[in-house]
Formats: sequence, structure tokens, C-alpha cells
Amino acid sequence: MQIFTLNSNLKSYLENEKQSQQNLAFIPTMGALHKGHISLIELAKTLSPVTLCSIYVNPRQFNDQQDLEKYPRTLEKDCRMLEASGCDIVYVPSDDEIYPDKINTEVQLQLGNLDQVMEGRFRPGHFMGMLTVVKRLLDIVSPQYLIMGQKDFQQFTLVNQLIKQYNLSVKLVVGSTLRDTDGLALSSRNQRLNRNERLQAMAIYQSLLKMSYEFNTKSINQLERETMQFLEDAGLKPEYVEIIDGDTLERPRHDANPRCIVACIAAWAGNVRLIDNLLLKGSLV
Ligand code: AMP
Repeated sequence: MQIFTLNSNLKSYLENEKQSQQNLAFIPTMGALHKGHISLIELAKTLSPVTLCSIYVNPRQFNDQQDLEKYPRTLEKDCRMLEASGCDIVYVPSDDEIYPDKINTEVQLQLGNLDQVMEGRFRPGHFMGMLTVVKRLLDIVSPQYLIMGQKDFQQFTLVNQLIKQYNLSVKLVVGSTLRDTDGLALSSRNQRLNRNERLQAMAIYQSLLKMSYEFNTKSINQLERETMQFLEDAGLKPEYVEIIDGDTLERPRHDANPRCIVACIAAWAGNVRLIDNLLLKGSLV
């Protein structure tokens, strides 16, 4: 496995290897890797002979300075996991490599409400920061495939827009959410949960499943309201429960026939913010 910290070295390596490495699949991460991330590497390996994973904790997508500081950084362990998974290239850039003074990294997009709803309401600026780094990374890596998790569904939708509006040739592929045995979506943040919070957190997936079972028999209003209550009763502090059209991220319209409908949740367990989602109808791709 090759590890690069400088864009120039990564780029010349990729250029030299181009003859033999036709297809490159790219998995951007912020490190603190777990089996969920590794499942994306495994998916990448089914698509392409060469996989490249980046590890970069992007300061611009944190609207809360404390959250940035608390973000776990476990580079050595991450590299061991990536090596064991068969990842070929790891890219670990510094802030100066991603945001050099001489390059304008800002992205210009027409997003309507896509970055304002759900996560956007509670994490102002988060998505523009995320889109800026994804665009910059795509410019550096030039992959054929970009692999992202359904776990961050709104992020996936916005990156789809980035690719469309900049007319990028990369193909976006979604990886399904890997869960613990009790259903909790794997997340780097889970390690900050104490025993009690970890038990409370189970209610997130339980309530997603409950909404899925009841989707055809109850109204969206009722499902959202009851789920808020279910999460509160479990000891969590829900920020939102929303059942949305997967393309517009808004309440599905009665007169439309959405390609997919997704239930999305953000909730606090103690001082750890967790998000999750479940497809209720249709398919993501
Ligand atoms: P992160 O480093 O947490 O920003 O995540 C990097 C990528 O891993 C994103 O595309 C996430 O959606 C994806 N990811 C995070 N958690 C999981 C999971 N439990 N299963 C599958 N993919 C995940």
C-alpha cells in the first residue's frame, strides 16, 4: 500500500501508473475508520482494480470548533485497517495541500433548499465545506468512481448535484450502511457513547424500522410525530425526524411519484450527535 501526503507525489505516481491502472475508485473519509468505511473499500474493489482512500479531517465542514477538536484521529490504526482490506493507495493531505493560498477552492452551486434542510438547519455551512473539499479532492485524484455511504444520505444527494452541475465525469456509487448487531449504524462517533447512551442509541434504528413497517398505514405527519416521541421516550434528544423525497429532500408531494422516499433522523445521545436513515420506498440509484 502506498501512502502519500503531497499532491505532487500522488499525482506523479498516478500519472506513471496510468497505463496499468485504468480505473481508480476513490473513497474520501475523515479517518477514525471502522468496518463501515472498510465495507466501502470492499465495494470499491468490486468496481475497480485500484482503490484510493483519503483521510482528511476537513476543518471547513465543522460548524462547531469543539466538534472538530474532539474528532478522533487514529492514523496508524486506520492505515493498518486499510492495508488489511487491500486498499492500494492512501492519501493523507495537510490543510496546506487542500487549501493552498494560490488556488481558489470555492465551489459555486445552485442548491435551492438541498443544503438548508435537515442537517443544513442544524449545521450551517457544513455542506458548502463538505462540497468544497470533495470538489478539491476530485480535482486532485480524478477517479472514475467515487464511493460514498448512504449513512450520510443528504451528503450523497449534494455530491450528486456537485457532479451534475460541474459536469464531472466521475461515477457516484452509494454503499449501504453497515450496522452493529443491534442495528446502530457504525460511526466514528459511537466510541464516545457511554454504556447507557449506547443502549439508548439503539432506538434510532428501531424507530426507522417501525416507520418502514407503518409507512403504508399511517400519515407522514403521524409517523414523524410518533417517532419523535419514541426517541424521546428512549432518552434521546431528537433534532429532526423527516420523511422526504430522496431527490428534493422535501416532504413527498401527493401529486408526484418520487423515485425514492427516505426516513431521516438526527438525535443526540448525551453529547454525541447521531444520524441515520432508511429507504422506505423505491431505490437510491
Ligand atoms: P466519514 O469519514 O465518517 O466522513 O465517512 C466517510 C464515508 O464513509 C462517507 O461516505 C460515509 O457515508 C461512509 N460511512 C460512514 N459510516 C458508514 C457506515 N456505517 N456504513 C457504510 N458507510 C459509512
